[in-house]
Amino acid sequence: MQIPVRTALMPLSQAFESLLMAVECPLPAEGVCTLDSDGRVLAHDVVSALHVPPQDNSAMDGYAVRCVDVSEPGAVLSVTQRIAAGSCGRIVEPFTAARIFTGAPVPPGADAVVMQEDCRVVNDCEGGVRIQTVPRTGQYIRRAGEDVARGQLVLHVGQRLGPAEMGLAASVGMHTLQVARRPRVALFSTGDELVMPGAVAPQDMPPGAIYNSNRFFLAAFLRRAGCEVTDQGIVPDRLDATISALQLAAQTHDVILTSGGVSVGEEDHIKPAVQTLGALDLWQIAIKPGKPFAYGRVGDSHFLGLPGNPVSSFVTFLLLVRPFLLRLQGVTDVAMKTVAARADFAWPRADKRQEFLRVRRNANGGLDLFPNQSSGVLTSAVWGDGLVDNPPGGVIVPGDVVQFVSFAELFA
Ligand code: AMP
Ligand code: MG
Repeated sequence: MQIPVRTALMPLSQAFESLLMAVECPLPAEGVCTLDSDGRVLAHDVVSALHVPPQDNSAMDGYAVRCVDVSEPGAVLSVTQRIAAGSCGRIVEPFTAARIFTGAPVPPGADAVVMQEDCRVVNDCEGGVRIQTVPRTGQYIRRAGEDVARGQLVLHVGQRLGPAEMGLAASVGMHTLQVARRPRVALFSTGDELVMPGAVAPQDMPPGAIYNSNRFFLAAFLRRAGCEVTDQGIVPDRLDATISALQLAAQTHDVILTSGGVSVGEEDHIKPAVQTLGALDLWQIAIKPGKPFAYGRVGDSHFLGLPGNPVSSFVTFLLLVRPFLLRLQGVTDVAMKTVAARADFAWPRADKRQEFLRVRRNANGGLDLFPNQSSGVLTSAVWGDGLVDNPPGGVIVPGDVVQFVSFAELFA
């Protein structure tokens, strides 16, 4: 009797590194309006050509004064000018004050702003103000360049832009930005059992049929990762159909992403199809859910094959495909960032694979576990708000510190 040879499973870290190494260079750059740059990846450094704020300005509505004139509370100064945001004042002469408003440049000579709540307009002396508190030098003055100094690198090549980055780019005057072109991704599902929602009503579903759910979360994930998605539908479980779908997709796409058909069953045609057209590695990754995963090339396109089980597809997309797509756009830092958190659950069955458990933060600052961790149970991903990264052989008892990564981070 022949003893089956067990191929060693590939550690996730190795699959991750191999995938990133397959990205030779980021996609070419294109210009976008800063206003439309959300989620895009910078193709150049942004260096500020000015100070932000450009000059010293007031942080309060009040009076700009010379501290030397207000050595004790109650000093009366004559108000000789009024400076609103957008206008500039003159030098503040001894024993005078400038009425000033938030954001207005601090006039020369003044070295503090006293907020209006600490001042009284003096009626018996025309244009006078009584300063009730003794100001500190520099008080309520926002210094020129305190946010950004002229010549400072504010955003760097490979940085992904979000609302804060867009605001910062605008604050240094950037109205357009060079960003990596969006990856063009062809998405298709494989499996003769799959039916599109809407094509057949639930009560009319034939025996053995299931709705195609992977297509929906994968398309959404791809768009969130900055991709342009071509949805190529469901490919029948036939070698010729799989080959022609791949061939067509490779002509105009940077990436082909499939789900299902990457096991080595007789109905799994991805492997022979990609091998006919290019090259393919089938990886058995030491993770749960999500063991089978395929990487290959079809023409100039990258081929990424996800397992069919919905949660396996979901998790492998987040752990492997998303970082790959970000790196394709030039993102430097694509490593998953976990944080330490307390498990409020038990996980007594150790597995030799690295597990990604669907969990939810509770009101006590700990994590609860979804009771059914099967790779087909997509409700776990909706109930949960993140994953626990449980190392191979890891047993968890309540109170243990575990590594948690939130969906908010992974879905961004
Ligand atoms: P496969 O990887 O093709 O062997 O599929 C594994 C399991 O995932 C099977 O039970 C499939 O029916 C299921 N599956 C595959 N593709 C999808 C999909 N797009 N949506 C929902 N379930 C799927
Ligand atoms: Mg299948």
